[in-house]
Amino acid sequence: MPSVIVVGGGVVGATIARELALAGARVRLLDARAPGDGATRASAGMLVPYIEGHPSSPLRELGRESLDLYDDFIVRLRRDSRSDIVYERCGTLEVALTQEGAEKLSAASGTLWREGVEARWVPAAIIPDLEPNVTPEAQGGLFIPQHGFVGVASLTAAAVAAAEARGAEVMVETGVLGIRRLPDGGVEVRTATDSWEADACVMAAGSWSSRIAVEGADPVPVTPIRGQLLQLSAPRGLLTRVIWGPAGYLVPWPDGSVLAGATVEDVGFDEGTTQEGRHDLMEMAVALVPALENASISDVRAGLRPRAPDDLPIIGRSKVVPGLVYATGHYRSGVLLAPLTAELVRRLVLDQSASTLPVLDPQRCGNL
Ligand SMILES: Cc1cc2nc3c(=O)[nH]c(=O)nc-3n(C[C@H](O)[C@H](O)[C@H](O)COP(=O)(O)OP(=O)(O)OC[C@H]3O[C@@H](n4cnc5c(N)ncnc54)[C@H](O)[C@@H]3O)c2cc1C
Repeated sequence: MPSVIVVGGGVVGATIARELALAGARVRLLDARAPGDGATRASAGMLVPYIEGHPSSPLRELGRESLDLYDDFIVRLRRDSRSDIVYERCGTLEVALTQEGAEKLSAASGTLWREGVEARWVPAAIIPDLEPNVTPEAQGGLFIPQHGFVGVASLTAAAVAAAEARGAEVMVETGVLGIRRLPDGGVEVRTATDSWEADACVMAAGSWSSRIAVEGADPVPVTPIRGQLLQLSAPRGLLTRVIWGPAGYLVPWPDGSVLAGATVEDVGFDEGTTQEGRHDLMEMAVALVPALENASISDVRAGLRPRAPDDLPIIGRSKVVPGLVYATGHYRSGVLLAPLTAELVRRLVLDQSASTLPVLDPQRCGNL
């Protein structure tokens, strides 16, 4: 079985490390900080392929496929890591606050239903039966029962633990500077103080992937898009489903708190939180659920979503360094897409006849 270095231990890299270790590969997982400390730390963990893209799109198809893997993925992950992972398929209620928005959601419910997705249009008068605390201003909603959310910190920690249980070596504070092809077809991975050789390498460094030099290749064109998220102390049972509105979303956490997200900001590599972000998210939360007006903010998090030019992930073999596989650019869907990404990468690393999906091919983004 090959030796593989996975660069980056976010939800994507950790899930890949586990998948490869389970398949028998000798895995070394390197992270510049500690696993889970990148965008993953701030993520709301929603599994909602049919929300942000009502029209059919490659991203929605990937999301649909990955969501189908989730139940089994969590069962096996809980078993392998012997840890608990928050995971709820509670459904989403996407709410329209204008008549025009309601018409769009109503049409979307028909389209999704025809595609075989259980998507129910909820007239305004019925919303209080489903979610009594949603604003009376709601003009209608779209209920999708199969959506849900997962605790991303616990998922990532469990994936790392499961990889380690299968012999993977995890190294923290080990920032990779460069990757190059070796004459025998393998790869060399270099940090400021060390270098390692392996049969293959997976680049899963999220927003920072562009900063890792791959000899002979263009930098990966992934840019950081900051997202801020609030955790609100709220009365237990305030909400039972994820509520999605025109300006953001609310996730009912099992401990009774509510996550309110998220901003979308192009501010480079700044991972700080801002007063403006807090204000906008509180405003969004209260517009959807007025009872949150007096909720206190128990935590504010920010993370850098890795965005590729076409908003699709970059998953596939490098043409420049044959032993290198890219797994980055997951932007707003890295948690949803993690199980599918891990499967795709396992095939690319372990099966030379496996080919890259054209829509995800790194070559679409330059000489990679
Ligand atoms: C506020 C917010 C809410 C979100 N909500 C959702 C959601 O509901 N559902 C969903 O699916 N997605 C969501 N996302 C997106 C999701 O969090 C990301 O797509 C996902 O975390 C990306 O994972 P990653 O492993 O690629 O990157 P990251 O989590 O950023 O991990 C990259 C890792 O690489 C390490 N690294 C960096 N440079 C180097 C280097 N040179 N050498 C070694 N290691 C390095 C970092 O330390 C980090 O640990 C959200 C994101 C944000 C910010």
